[in-house]
Amino acid sequence: MPATLVIRSSAIHAAGCYTTTPIRKGARIVEYDGPRITKDVADERYADRFVTYLFGVGDRNTVIDGFGAAMFINHSCNPNCETQEIDERVFVVAIRNIAPGEELTYEYNLYDSDEEDQPCYCGANVCRGTMFSEEEIRRRKRIAARTAKAGRA
Ligand SMILES: [Zn+2]
Repeated sequence: MPATLVIRSSAIHAAGCYTTTPIRKGARIVEYDGPRITKDVADERYADRFVTYLFGVGDRNTVIDGFGAAMFINHSCNPNCETQEIDERVFVVAIRNIAPGEELTYEYNLYDSDEEDQPCYCGANVCRGTMFSEEEIRRRKRIAARTAKAGRA
């Protein structure tokens, strides 16, 4: 039985995606679907927007311009879902059993952002305080270290 999803206000961020039916661990819940655009087009289109619904796929030069329920799923550092990419399609999959009424969340693992930071307010006790991926945090530290070195030269 497919999960029934509803969009309503969320404590994490303006709106969230909730299930009204139980979801089993491992179930594929919803596809993160929408038009595919290049990263350059996305940067241009959303340059002035604070909130965007973009999801990088494949070589990371392509992003999905989110459309549908999946784009309302918020980030959490203690999520109940994860995303799986299969042939450049992105699916939201349950990583534990989810009860009716629960908000669906996954880790955004943001990367390659022009933002200074993408602070996280998910409220999980394991909250990392940022929506950036570990990889992105390491990349930023490397750049910061290089900049500091150049400054001293
Ligand atoms: Zn968090």
